[in-house]
Amino acid sequence: MTPDPEDTPMKYDILIIGAGPAGLSFARSFKDTKLNVLVIEKASLDELRDPAPDGREIALTHLSLKLMQELGAWARIPAEAISPIREAKVLNGDSSYFLDFDSRNVDDGALGYLVPNYQIRRSLFEEAATLPNVEILTDTVVESLHTDEQSGHVRLSNGETREATLIVAADSRFSSSRREMGISSSMQDFAKTAIVCRMEHELPHEQIAWECFHYGRTLAVLPMAGNLSSIVITVHNELAGEIVAMDEAEFNADIQQRFGNRLGTMRLVGERHSYPLIAVHADRFFANRYALIGDAAVGMHPVTAHGFNLGLRGQATLAREILRAAARGRDFGSRRVLVKYEFRHMRVTRPMYWGTNGLVALFTNEQAPVKAVRNLVLRIANNLPPIKRIIKNRLTETTS
Ligand SMILES: Cc1cc2nc3c(=O)[nH]c(=O)nc-3n(C[C@H](O)[C@H](O)[C@H](O)COP(=O)(O)OP(=O)(O)OC[C@H]3O[C@@H](n4cnc5c(N)ncnc54)[C@H](O)[C@@H]3O)c2cc1C
Repeated sequence: MTPDPEDTPMKYDILIIGAGPAGLSFARSFKDTKLNVLVIEKASLDELRDPAPDGREIALTHLSLKLMQELGAWARIPAEAISPIREAKVLNGDSSYFLDFDSRNVDDGALGYLVPNYQIRRSLFEEAATLPNVEILTDTVVESLHTDEQSGHVRLSNGETREATLIVAADSRFSSSRREMGISSSMQDFAKTAIVCRMEHELPHEQIAWECFHYGRTLAVLPMAGNLSSIVITVHNELAGEIVAMDEAEFNADIQQRFGNRLGTMRLVGERHSYPLIAVHADRFFANRYALIGDAAVGMHPVTAHGFNLGLRGQATLAREILRAAARGRDFGSRRVLVKYEFRHMRVTRPMYWGTNGLVALFTNEQAPVKAVRNLVLRIANNLPPIKRIIKNRLTETTS
């Protein structure tokens, strides 16, 4: 359907709110189709073209790698920005015992791939922006929306309106359109902050990812290309400001000591960024002529590194259902299509969301009996191959 300049408002097949990685990958999924897509984003064109580093290094699973390749985005990420994770170790408290996942029997000998978020965003924008059937409207906020039997309608910050057969919200975990469309959600505020940064170190990381559930805070050290690691510190909100403001030399020494000097001397590279830890799972993934994808559907705690992985998978599931209906000449914005999407995607997101929150609850509980349970859990997972295999498959998504 081509927008007719004579018509007011302009009508599209699909209108996407938000050009984050979920919205852009979804738009790109309609390459070489007849569907007309409009993406509306509040950020500027320059911010989309050349996103600033935001400290987030995204661990992509094997399924995500395949989806990124299919979207043409993987080839646009410089090879030197991609770092394979060959092994993962989980530590508890002050014990030196660790749960270990290696990459034996995994494709390419990698559990996953660490890629800077800004490179993912840039690659997806470059792909989506080249499509003749995708229009990206920047510096524009969707201020309100409503739907009727045939269409969804949005009112924009520039005073204009747009209409589409289906509205897809990729407008972040704090999605205002989700609330406006009456979709409730489970939300968990962990009252914690993730502080992320890059650090250079003396010794090689050997492509090992570490998750240290220390008492009082957690520390993840994730291998980037070269002698560089991504550091993720999770602390109670009241401590976060102090850590971000810490003098660099003091910060370097602190992280080096908390990581047991495993990487030798460590040095901060660039800025420290902080993110509030609030997880969200929408109770429904659709309403009339409206669907949720990305963090707007499920915003995860980063400890299991699954937020964008789920976002990528969910957008692919929705795009597949839409294209299947369109190919049969059916209404692709109908309830029938959206129900299938919700069913397929929620089957994946619910266990991952509640499992992750449960893991966080256990590994941040510092009562004496729970500390013992934490140790026991690591030992059981390490020594029971079927359990270890299930966890590994979930984390790497080598089987979908
Ligand atoms: C510290 C940290 C580490 C992470 N690590 C991992 C990891 O290892 N692996 C992983 O898979 N995931 C990880 N994630 C999660 C991942 O970053 C997110 O899942 C992903 O960025 C969400 O993308 P999105 O497009 O859904 O939302 P967002 O990136 O939040 O984008 C939403 C977009 O919508 C726009 N927008 C919002 N409202 C409107 C409106 N009304 N009108 C117009 N535009 C609007 C915003 O400007 C924004 O561009 C991590 C997250 C954090 C914080």
